[in-house]
Amino acid sequence: MSELHHLSTEQLITGLQDKQFSSLELTDHFIKRIDALDGKINSFITHTSETARAQAQAADEMRAQGDMRPLLGVPMAHKDIFCTQGVLTTCGSKMLHNFISPYDATIVTNIDKAGMISLGKLNMDEFAMGSDNSSSYYGSVQNPWNLEHVPGGSSGGSAAAVAAGFVPVATASDTGGSIRQPASFCGLTGIKPTYGRISRFGMIAYASSLDQAGSLGRSAKDCAYLLQPMIGHDPRDATSIKYDMPDYVQDMNEAVAKADDKPFAGLRIGVAKEYFGEGLNTEVNELVRAALQKYEELGATIVEVNITDPEITLATYYMLAPAEASSNLSRFDGVRFGYRCENPKDLTDLYTRSRSEGFGPEVQRRILMGTYALSAGYFDAYYTKAQKIRRIIVKDFADAFAHCDVIASPTVPTAAYKLSENLDPASMYLGDVYTIGVNLAGLPALSQPVGLTANGLPVGLQLIGQHWCESQLLTTAHLFQQHTDHHLQHSAIAKETV
Ligand code: GLN
Repeated sequence: MSELHHLSTEQLITGLQDKQFSSLELTDHFIKRIDALDGKINSFITHTSETARAQAQAADEMRAQGDMRPLLGVPMAHKDIFCTQGVLTTCGSKMLHNFISPYDATIVTNIDKAGMISLGKLNMDEFAMGSDNSSSYYGSVQNPWNLEHVPGGSSGGSAAAVAAGFVPVATASDTGGSIRQPASFCGLTGIKPTYGRISRFGMIAYASSLDQAGSLGRSAKDCAYLLQPMIGHDPRDATSIKYDMPDYVQDMNEAVAKADDKPFAGLRIGVAKEYFGEGLNTEVNELVRAALQKYEELGATIVEVNITDPEITLATYYMLAPAEASSNLSRFDGVRFGYRCENPKDLTDLYTRSRSEGFGPEVQRRILMGTYALSAGYFDAYYTKAQKIRRIIVKDFADAFAHCDVIASPTVPTAAYKLSENLDPASMYLGDVYTIGVNLAGLPALSQPVGLTANGLPVGLQLIGQHWCESQLLTTAHLFQQHTDHHLQHSAIAKETV
């Protein structure tokens, strides 16, 4: 059954329903692959193979007794930013190297209730700060398409594990691009929903006004299957919102049933020159333009729109996100959670050394930048000013959406770079230039694969929607994927059998 990991989530569901394989066989297949191949890419921090097998066995019994939950017995894995009761939850940091969460994040509970089987916790940039998974205390992650290249970040482990065929789908989180950027680098589809669509309870906070959970899979439909149990209001997160609850898969199926050879007739795709400026790699530009042409062939109309200069957006994000992070991360003080230094002299020494030894350099840099921006003398010059620009970014998106239904752009200006390039922080931040505006405006967006560069690395197209329009984004990408095969290509590791 070597090809089980090439099946879509829908095919896995059908296979389980038709008894082509059991959940235990499926789970064992993925565990075997992880055991044999994860040494090459380091995508997992924690394995939960034993509990997974027990859950799979239980799922098989429940199914035999008539349990009809579609996702029952389908394997997945969680980014290690989500608290999992009784299971190590590190957030990629030494600070939480020994943190066994006493409770589950709401999304973990919900996915569990849907009957899915978690195979473990996935590697990530420390506290989700980074774009290439190099800041993880648990080591960098390799891109399954080419091991010398980074998988993207901060959800690098989630993307690499899916692209390697270790899990069909994985959870992830996105504060400034951390779902979409690794999706682009690893040839996957990944969606960050509208801010407030999914509970943040139990998702370790980076920048609370920007953080949002989402899903990664090979296709838009795979993403939809995992996203469905994640969404909804949660009384434990006051920023999660009661709103209509779409059925993503049903919406997709209806759209496909209605579609003729011009499925996108009437769809206006906004293209902003600001997203195609200097710094955009030629091959990425060509692949994204070719995908847009395909959308046009399938009936869409391209309209020109304007959005805020992405470099201004970048500066705004790198002021606000560290400011919020500096406040959020103050709870890690060596007293209540995780790492504590040896032999502290006094309380100040305990705080200082626990934080200096427990946090890595990128996290410390962000805490320092954020603390500076929030300090009394600089608050107005930096933080307040950035908040004002954030209003403008929101307004510019709203103005653009007066002329179009979705906005398309490259997800990242380049394909995955080599880990050995060892980017300095400022150059790494530049890679987030097209993704962060979406978080500042709270909009939903996805990245979908649109082809490979000459040296075989994936490139993604970003689709941005209006608030609450995830279904439209997923359906749009799904219809595109009905007519193209970029999402069906396999990484080098996914092609390996064990
Ligand atoms: N790369 C961005 C950062 O480092 C975004 C990270 C994220 O979305 N969590 O902040």
